Amino acid sequence: MRRLRPDRPPTVRELLASGRSFSFEFFPPKTDKGARNLWRTIRELEPLRPSFVSVTYGAGGGTRDKTVDIVERIATDTTLTPVAHFTAVDHSQAELRQLIGRFAAVGVRNILAVRGDPPGDPMGEWIKHPDGVEYAADLVRMIRSYGDFSVGVAAFPYKHPRSPDIESDTRHFVAKCRAGADYAITQMFFRAEDFLRLRDRVDAAGCDVPIIPGIMPVTQLSTIERSEQLSGAPFPEDVRARFEAVGDDPEAVRRLGIEHAAELCRDLLDQGVPGIHFITFNKSTATREVYGLLEADGYGARGSVPPMTA
Ligand code: FAD
Repeated sequence: MRRLRPDRPPTVRELLASGRSFSFEFFPPKTDKGARNLWRTIRELEPLRPSFVSVTYGAGGGTRDKTVDIVERIATDTTLTPVAHFTAVDHSQAELRQLIGRFAAVGVRNILAVRGDPPGDPMGEWIKHPDGVEYAADLVRMIRSYGDFSVGVAAFPYKHPRSPDIESDTRHFVAKCRAGADYAITQMFFRAEDFLRLRDRVDAAGCDVPIIPGIMPVTQLSTIERSEQLSGAPFPEDVRARFEAVGDDPEAVRRLGIEHAAELCRDLLDQGVPGIHFITFNKSTATREVYGLLEADGYGARGSVPPMTA
């Protein structure tokens, strides 16, 4: 039986104001087996007491209802605070408004507003729905007009792949924040300086919206290729060389990936980032290991890391 939490769930705005955040990102699985795996992962990560967990919104259409179902179940069946990703892909403004209403109805007050990628080919040409919106900034305004939502947006350390240059990328990012965003989460990156350059240029443009780094540990060499597909940015050569040096030994690659992610998080936390957002791919082990290393070094925020079960 579902239990409704008596307390009002916090907004990410409030969470960030109260201190450093640690958060985890999941995606809606397509199969029953994937769903069982996701819920096992959520239960394994729950004792770490993350500040919030987010669920992506699929561009393919089929997983969209699942995003709503998963965030609803997280809100009602767990102690976690869910953030629902939300995209403009293939949606009219009426559908977008209806979806915002569904989130509100299930008690979800946190939305990450991203434009979304064209279904099928993330690098393909963006085509707006005839009755939809063009940019994430329009989504931010729409969600905020509905009242008490805390809205996040996406940031790109290597600029958005479709942005012609860094200057316009920064200008549009700042405009999106000024449309009403409370915080931003970045695309994955692998060197602290790449994040710090983004933060510096946003800061220089007079925008102080907190930017949370998105971290994905490299657990196998294929993650490197995948990260390039997802981020549209080349993997840094110096970091690639470290992984290739141990490339023959999958366990050594995995260990290096955990150490490298922890090293990156420590550097970022030393530089005063507002939190760390782990991209989990619905698996708990790597995230728990990185978080465990951070806690051991006194960088953890909440809770303690329980022993591994998987
Ligand atoms: P926008 O901010 O709209 O920017 C898109 C492009 O338009 C950029 O080049 C920008 O510079 C430019 N632009 C913005 N405003 C203007 C303007 N006024 N005039 C001219 N140009 C402008 N995708 C999904 O499908 N589902 C998800 O759940 C999802 N979650 C994500 C989470 C994070 C943390 C990140 C970083 C990305 C996520 N994505 C997701 C991917 C994202 O949808 C794509 O990268 C998308 O192509 C860009 O989204 P955006 O919100 O940055 O778009």
